[in-house]
Amino acid sequence: MDNLLDLDLDGLVERLGRVGEKRFRAVQLFRWMHQRGEADFERMSDLAKGLRERLRGEACVSGLSVVSEHTSADGTVKWLFDVGAGNAVETVFIPEVDRGTLCVSSQAGCAVGCHFCSTGHQGFSRNLGTGEIVAQLWHAEHALRARHGGVTERQIDNVVMMGMGEPLQNLAALVPALRVMLDDHGYGLSRRRVTVSTSGVVPMIDRLAQECPVALAVSLHAPDDALRSELVPLNRKYPLAELMAACARYLAHAPRDFITFEYCMLDGVNDSTAHAEALVQLVRGRHRDNATAVPCKLNLIPFNPFPASGLRRSTPQRVQAFARVLQEAGIVTTVRRTRGDDIDAACGQLAGEVQDRTGARERLSGRRIPLLPDVAQAVAP
Ligand code: SAH
Ligand code: SF4
Repeated sequence: MDNLLDLDLDGLVERLGRVGEKRFRAVQLFRWMHQRGEADFERMSDLAKGLRERLRGEACVSGLSVVSEHTSADGTVKWLFDVGAGNAVETVFIPEVDRGTLCVSSQAGCAVGCHFCSTGHQGFSRNLGTGEIVAQLWHAEHALRARHGGVTERQIDNVVMMGMGEPLQNLAALVPALRVMLDDHGYGLSRRRVTVSTSGVVPMIDRLAQECPVALAVSLHAPDDALRSELVPLNRKYPLAELMAACARYLAHAPRDFITFEYCMLDGVNDSTAHAEALVQLVRGRHRDNATAVPCKLNLIPFNPFPASGLRRSTPQRVQAFARVLQEAGIVTTVRRTRGDDIDAACGQLAGEVQDRTGARERLSGRRIPLLPDVAQAVAP
């Protein structure tokens, strides 16, 4: 049985073409699924009866089953979805005055293993399929409409691939999912309002530029290779000089003329004035570890603690002082407000209820204690 949520519009056209249906039939079906949230072929009243019957026998529109749904006092909604075999992923809706943002997961767990990230501490279970990525938006959009009395206006106009997982280690499933989000017959989101966040999978940044350029956020977290390799182990494979060069190449294709750099503020680890000054040099391409200037905005994320991390959040004063150094250098810098605190929906707290199959939690916590104080000392100004 094919799950039609796995297909972008071209895929659906091709699928229906196999049974002799024309493109406009695929468009109708696609609109029923994504714009109306309909999963029952019988209710797709303008499809011929024969086609509906055929679809019923061969295909389905199958979302994810909801394990839980929590709404925070600030309106943030977090869904936990079952993806089978003891794995679950989380999706978070963040309402703002002028827009609604959905934070979407791309994998169950994550293989990158960043120290400050609870998903990283779980280890990697598996990639999500296109349908499982799309189903998060499909469910959230239509659940939010239902909450508002069955309105037909769009509730989500911004998607960030900042949930669980490293989206660029799952490019094959990601790209068709992005196309569904962007399609005018699907969710009609602007390329500027769909953001892929990556820890820096350099070859896949180039592939994304070719296959589906959307806004790009890169998780930097450190101004030099030595510290970044400790915090984001993938840096050992793709060091800053390569990452920054890939960012500059991406901008030739991107819908925006800057890259967003994310920087998680960790008390005593990466948050000194000297780190901020080094960061300015890094993005200007005047750093010993990188010679490529990258037009950018900086997004500072106060660390969201979780028990196994052994790390602390930078003080608000430190975050402000760090931001000031960047701003005075002319770099647009924002400090991310933490939302959904009361339901553990903040960045890096998404853990699902995944079993730790790979032993990553032990590996990371075993390393953490001897490692991070050394790092903190090594980089102290
Ligand atoms: N794997 C991708 C996207 C998912 S993580 C990436 O790393 O970019 C989304 C963002 O949350 C990243 O910038 C990540 O560094 C940040 N993050 C992870 N754990 C965090 C934590 N505990 N506190 C604050 N931000 C965190
Ligand atoms: Fe994976 Fe991103 Fe978490 Fe690092 S921060 S472990 S890349 S999800």
